[in-house]
Amino acid sequence: MKREERLLVKYYRLSLEDEADRESNSIRNQRKLIEDYVEEREDLRELGSLELSDDGYTGTNFNRPGIKRFLDLLKKNQVACLVVKDFSRFTRDYIELGNYAEQIFPFMDVRFISVNDRYDSSFQSSHDGLEIPFKGILNDLYSKDISTKVKAAKRQMIKNGKLCSGSYPFGYRKKEQGEINRDGIPYRIDEEAAKVVRLIFHLALQGKKNIEIARVLNEQGCLTPGMAKRKNGSFGYGLKEGERSVWDSTKVLNILRDERYTGTLIIGRYRGKGVGSGKVEETPEHMWFRKEMGMPAIILREDFERVQSLRPRGKRGAYKKEHHILYRKVRCANCGHFLYYKPSEYGVQYHSFFCKQPHLRPDSECFRGYIKEGEILEALLSMSRVQVRLAETIKAESKRKGKGEERQQAKKRIERLEKEIERKKDLKAQCYSEYKHGELTKKEFLRKKENIQAEIQVCQQEIQIIRESMEDMQEDEKELVERYGGYEDDIKLDRDMVERLVEVIWVYDVGRVKIELK
Ligand SMILES: [Zn+2]
Repeated sequence: MKREERLLVKYYRLSLEDEADRESNSIRNQRKLIEDYVEEREDLRELGSLELSDDGYTGTNFNRPGIKRFLDLLKKNQVACLVVKDFSRFTRDYIELGNYAEQIFPFMDVRFISVNDRYDSSFQSSHDGLEIPFKGILNDLYSKDISTKVKAAKRQMIKNGKLCSGSYPFGYRKKEQGEINRDGIPYRIDEEAAKVVRLIFHLALQGKKNIEIARVLNEQGCLTPGMAKRKNGSFGYGLKEGERSVWDSTKVLNILRDERYTGTLIIGRYRGKGVGSGKVEETPEHMWFRKEMGMPAIILREDFERVQSLRPRGKRGAYKKEHHILYRKVRCANCGHFLYYKPSEYGVQYHSFFCKQPHLRPDSECFRGYIKEGEILEALLSMSRVQVRLAETIKAESKRKGKGEERQQAKKRIERLEKEIERKKDLKAQCYSEYKHGELTKKEFLRKKENIQAEIQVCQQEIQIIRESMEDMQEDEKELVERYGGYEDDIKLDRDMVERLVEVIWVYDVGRVKIELK
């Protein structure tokens, strides 16, 4: 999309929490305010514009149709400018606000305007950027303990900012403070390391395995990511002065999978988990922002793609968290959070779950221990056994009942048929006596007798058929018993079954779980 085709987005939001101030926040008022603002400015007036709004949605998350559409356009680089009445229309999550105002919008070259906050990103210098977005939203939300929250949030954002530029890939180095120009590209190529990256891709293109590549690198004494970080003045992987680290297949794989070597700058890949936690987590890929040619390339894109096609991603996927059998099913019964999974290097029987709360707050009432994965699986398994047995018993019972009714009806039918045969036999005897007494001619008698005999035969055949089918029924029942006896030994838990059966597994303590079925 050409620059001039990118849009000016006017975004309005009204939520129930605005009740007190409903009139001034009404969509109509937001629209008027923004339209007046845009109308006065020639550079904005020229842009094609789009209105997006969310009525009845909270600003504490991005789960809003209008904002989702906006983010979608943003990712496609179709937004030139975003205008809102105040910051809290866009988001009430001030960490998120910081992320967007400080990182994502500048990165995507989006001008951000908040009319009532008198904020326009094109007039902010890079130094006062941080303070301003906070004013509005903090006044709005956190007027009481601004100072501590601002400090915490700023710390967090500085960390996040570092994550963008701080976790620069091997092969690059951070620019010095004065070097970062208006293009915002935070890295430049570190030639010594870039040579190693090129060698890795070169060997991979020849079809070498990761471990073979690692061996070659170690033989040649190539720089490792840890050594490069130390060389560039940051501490890498706890590497001490004079210590050497070696290449292994994981390190090689990480290089080969890193799209940034093609010059694509990626941000939004990691995010802070919350103020003060200091922890970061990787975001799902659809939340990343990519900018091709956003940084200097070390590897040609064709070569990168070729290496990816040579190495199917399947294996790594197999270890993904979401493939774990209990993924997002186990929660703390006290605080409701998902428990953390702690795989053990000592073997599957030691993998465990724990609640993080007691580690964060000493006064937490959540359980403190580690509950073994096996313990939960065992509970789940015995629950499933009971369930399966129950289900099968019910099924068998209803089948048996059905068969019983069928059999009763069959018996009745046979009785009726036998009576019918008796009646027809009587009829036959009557015909004979009528013939004897000269009431029927011989010809008439023989025809009647033949007819009655045929009818009796039909009845007898039917009885025969019913009797045979009743024997089949008995066979069926025997089979049912054989099939369901001992069934529970065959149950195997898999992710699919857990997904289908289990709503949530509540953990009260080590050894105490409650399984909530769907
Ligand atoms: Zn808890």
